[in-house]
Amino acid sequence: MTGGLEGYDAVAEANAQKSVLAIHWSRICERLKAEVGEVEYRTWLRQITVGPVEEDEITLYLPTRFLRDWVRGQYGDRLGTLWNAEVPAIRRVELQVARPGSASAPAQADGAAAAAPANSEDAAPRVAAAPAPAHEEPRHAEVRSDLAAPLDPRFTFDTFVVGKPNEFAYACARRVAERPSSPGFNPLFLYGGVGLGKTHLMHAIGAELLREGKVSVAYMSAEKFMYRFIAAIRSQSTMEFKEQLRSVDVLMIDDLQFLIGKDNTQEEFFHTFNALVDAGRQIVVSADKSPSDLSGLEDRLRTRLGCGMVADIHATTFELRISILEAKASASGVVVPAKVLEFLAHKITSNVRELEGALNRLIAHANLFGRPVTLEATQDVLHDILKAHDRRVTIEEIQRKVAEHWNIRLTDMSSARRARAVARPRQVAMYLAKQLTSRSLPEIGRKFGNRDHTTVMHAVTRVTELMEQDPAFAEDVELLRRMLES
Ligand code: ADP
Ligand code: MG
Repeated sequence: MTGGLEGYDAVAEANAQKSVLAIHWSRICERLKAEVGEVEYRTWLRQITVGPVEEDEITLYLPTRFLRDWVRGQYGDRLGTLWNAEVPAIRRVELQVARPGSASAPAQADGAAAAAPANSEDAAPRVAAAPAPAHEEPRHAEVRSDLAAPLDPRFTFDTFVVGKPNEFAYACARRVAERPSSPGFNPLFLYGGVGLGKTHLMHAIGAELLREGKVSVAYMSAEKFMYRFIAAIRSQSTMEFKEQLRSVDVLMIDDLQFLIGKDNTQEEFFHTFNALVDAGRQIVVSADKSPSDLSGLEDRLRTRLGCGMVADIHATTFELRISILEAKASASGVVVPAKVLEFLAHKITSNVRELEGALNRLIAHANLFGRPVTLEATQDVLHDILKAHDRRVTIEEIQRKVAEHWNIRLTDMSSARRARAVARPRQVAMYLAKQLTSRSLPEIGRKFGNRDHTTVMHAVTRVTELMEQDPAFAEDVELLRRMLES
């Protein structure tokens, strides 16, 4: 694709995005109004301005910090759910403080309930043309906010829970934060699936470096990098853009896979990369795949990306999920019983983001209604999330995979044969069906040749025991689980 076309795409897309978002937002506002009532809506929610969407996150702006905190506390989850229901790709809502940017956005005082809108336009939900982020707190100078995204203060090394799947990436990130530009660690290339902590680690590096106050840091998504680059071309300020980028000590680019197929932006990134590394500056890059698997990136860029330290973040294990849940629950101050944490760690295995989302919703619910968190309440509050996860794997799939794994016939999953060579795999399949789906014991029994629910229960107990006694067997079962979940 040529640079020109890339530019058109960007503009067209930005415009389309804005109008689509406006439609969704007005629908969401209608629902919110119906849910919370006109007065509450006007007091708190009408002040929201819709900002950009990046990846799976939409930014909403509020004019003051107080409003932002209030709306986040009271409606944050609900906004997330409603956005997700409107636009499934949006999974997170970020609330930020910003003054209404353009002159066309009507200025509104806090507590707008008092000032009833004079015309319908005034009451209409707002989508920001170009919201001007307010400077909340003076940061220690050196985040290059002119060209970079702000760092999320929640993403630090302290709040990152370390376990087997991420310990190497964590160690590398820490090392880079301590001694940027060390040979062997430049660039640092972090990769792994979505929601596993890449962005968190990058922000943590940035936060740590800024705390030390020694260096200037620029962090941005590859997408933002592209938009900035295109904007610079259009305003004929590419030189300035380049100079800005090349003046930082640490440049972090998130989700580099976005640059696949964007040849001009890739080229620009490549030159920036080289200039910075040659000048002894640190680069940190993240992507969803390793450099060698990022087909579609230019070879020379791929080669250079693989020259420093490449660290992958693996899918979470049950243990890590439990640790993360424990850490987040205890930070929230809400008591979440171990049983509930285990339930969540079993059911929500896709990634940390979803796990966190589920826990946050539970906590919000507990806070809102002042009720203790129980297993029942959990199943109720997370009904939709749990259902969505169950849909991923069916009992038939489980039976097929397990039969393949132990080389038995699929029909033996429901046959009456009791030889151990078929009975054991069958028990494992029942166990996995219990773990990975929301089917009840009788339902599971029916799918295994109309067996009784006590047979399923026995299978679950037996497999659990065997996994404790026999590590090789446990590994087999875990492997099957991972294959089924992926
Ligand atoms: P990615 O960039 O890999 O898609 P993120 O860094 O955005 O994922 O992580 C998604 C969410 O999960 C964030 O809220 C992050 O704080 C949280 N998270 C991920 N891994 C961990 C971890 N090991 N400990 C604590 N929180 C984590
Ligand atoms: Mg990310």
